[in-house]
Amino acid sequence: MDRKDIRIIGLLSGGLDSALSLASMHRLGYDIVVYHFENGFHAAPAPGEATPLALQTAERLGVPVRFVDNSREMIQVVMHPEHGYGSRVNPCIDCRILMFRMTRQLMAEERARFVFTGEVVGQRPMSQRRQIMNLIDRESGMEGLVVRPLCGRLMPETLAEREGWIRREELLDIQGRGRKRQIAMAEELGIGRYEMPAGGCLLTDAGFEIRLRDLLRFGEPTAQEIQLLKLGRHFRIDPGHKAVLGRDAADCAALEALLGPDDLRFDARDMPGPHATLRGEASPEAVRQVAQLVLRYAKADPQREHVVAVRRGAADAAATVEQVSVRPMDEEQSWFMLVAAEGRCGGYGGEAT
Ligand code: SF4
Repeated sequence: MDRKDIRIIGLLSGGLDSALSLASMHRLGYDIVVYHFENGFHAAPAPGEATPLALQTAERLGVPVRFVDNSREMIQVVMHPEHGYGSRVNPCIDCRILMFRMTRQLMAEERARFVFTGEVVGQRPMSQRRQIMNLIDRESGMEGLVVRPLCGRLMPETLAEREGWIRREELLDIQGRGRKRQIAMAEELGIGRYEMPAGGCLLTDAGFEIRLRDLLRFGEPTAQEIQLLKLGRHFRIDPGHKAVLGRDAADCAALEALLGPDDLRFDARDMPGPHATLRGEASPEAVRQVAQLVLRYAKADPQREHVVAVRRGAADAAATVEQVSVRPMDEEQSWFMLVAAEGRCGGYGGEAT
């Protein structure tokens, strides 16, 4: 069978290994479609930051890329990982099982014969050990259907080899964390940039873990609440409420974009400073405390009261709900409420309700 008649799916993240895997399968002549999963836990690329390398490579090779949003399913996985967490709150094994399971369905839709990935045995401590890779294939229903071009010679035989769609000698035997062979391959395949831009998985980030654990104490988060964790400074007001203050203009604009119609926005009336958001209905005490926080970060004079405007909804549709006159919050109180990256999980000592 001519390889251009064999449709296959490239399940690619974004980095160098994915790009190499794609370029080598493309060179073998398959009909490829790339799938890229967006699980909501990756750092947003900074404005102007380059597209991930594997997706740039797909574009250069004329390979179509389809994006799948599995953030809803991923929240469940993060909350209840059957195979536990890695060093932080990263449930890598279950994350891969979820992605492979979803890909199993996509194979039927695409009439794809097999899937390939950019995995390398032994490169990642949790999900790229050989036994774990086999377990992930088995539990996702993908056993024998995943070809790993960079390390396939070290893995069990796949359906693709049995059917003669690919030969074992066309697969490589790269293993471990070294990058030497990949860099040489990148040069040979004309892939110029080796480093992946920022935008890695935040579930492996210490600061993000603290914010996420704080959120999980108080129930099942929404996808929007997960996006909010990536921005600003977070303050736990009470079990039902958390305020988020922008750290800079970009943060404030991003917070603004995430405001829902019922969310509150706080701005100091007579001075520049960050604005804050508070989700949903709030008690008068919560409103007062968030107004105090806004004044503290606007560096307002602590000796007197200032006015903070409270609006509901996004800026273009927002109506002023009230104007609150308060003094700035003192440092100790704001520190107590901060959901910080320095080893604390917010100041609220109560249990989830
Ligand atoms: S690092 Fe994050 S995205 Fe990657 S497998 Fe682990 S949980 Fe999933």
